[in-house]
Amino acid sequence: MTVINPIQEAEALAAKLERLDLAGRLSLVAGLGGRVVFTTSLGIEDQVITAEIGTHRLPIDVVTLQTGRLFKETLDLIGETESQYDIHITRYEPEQADIDAYAAKYGMNGFYESVEARHACCSVRKLKPLARALEGATIWITGLRRGQSANRAETPFAEYDAERHLLKVNPLADWDIDAIKVFVADNGVPINPLHARGYPSIGCEPCTRAIKPGEPERAGRWWWEQDEKRECGLHVAEETASIVAQQ
Ligand code: SF4
Repeated sequence: MTVINPIQEAEALAAKLERLDLAGRLSLVAGLGGRVVFTTSLGIEDQVITAEIGTHRLPIDVVTLQTGRLFKETLDLIGETESQYDIHITRYEPEQADIDAYAAKYGMNGFYESVEARHACCSVRKLKPLARALEGATIWITGLRRGQSANRAETPFAEYDAERHLLKVNPLADWDIDAIKVFVADNGVPINPLHARGYPSIGCEPCTRAIKPGEPERAGRWWWEQDEKRECGLHVAEETASIVAQQ
């Protein structure tokens, strides 16, 4: 009997996913068994995936990280999306004790002061809730695209997340933003009105600004930091993604 390791399993899955359209990719993954979780930030890419899950009634848990610092427009879109697709989006929130401890040490908006303080906030408001959201999951679906940033340019269709012991699947890895917009228009997918106001990538309100013409899609995230590879820790740099795995 041939025994394949999780990395080989991910590579084999990625090869199959590459040949399918989006609905086919999601159906294949949903049929693999175990708990399949899709984490949505309600961004335009994620809305495309949610639309396919809802339209095809796929057995995939749709969850979001309700950090407590989201835009009102994002919060409104959660309910609108649930209503349109008759699905439930489970909200995972930070622990109040963690927020209090963070505020005591750094100040509620201490994330502007240092990268360490920013990572600490993302850890409390995103990473710890993500860990709870993925408890018991065998597959984690994300809306990562290669065109979103240089940091995501090598995003595979599937990879092994050794830290979380699951397969991470990125079914939109090869989609460009124009294809996303066409899908949204053709299918009447609800999207965040902030996209039309210069926000291609939307995270927490205090950490997201509109971008200027010609800037990279994620230039408005943690704009005060200099590191071109800045992320929130949900998805780490590609060179380590197959070993260690951030929305
Ligand atoms: S994006 Fe900003 S507000 Fe949101 S968790 Fe990270 S540092 Fe905190």
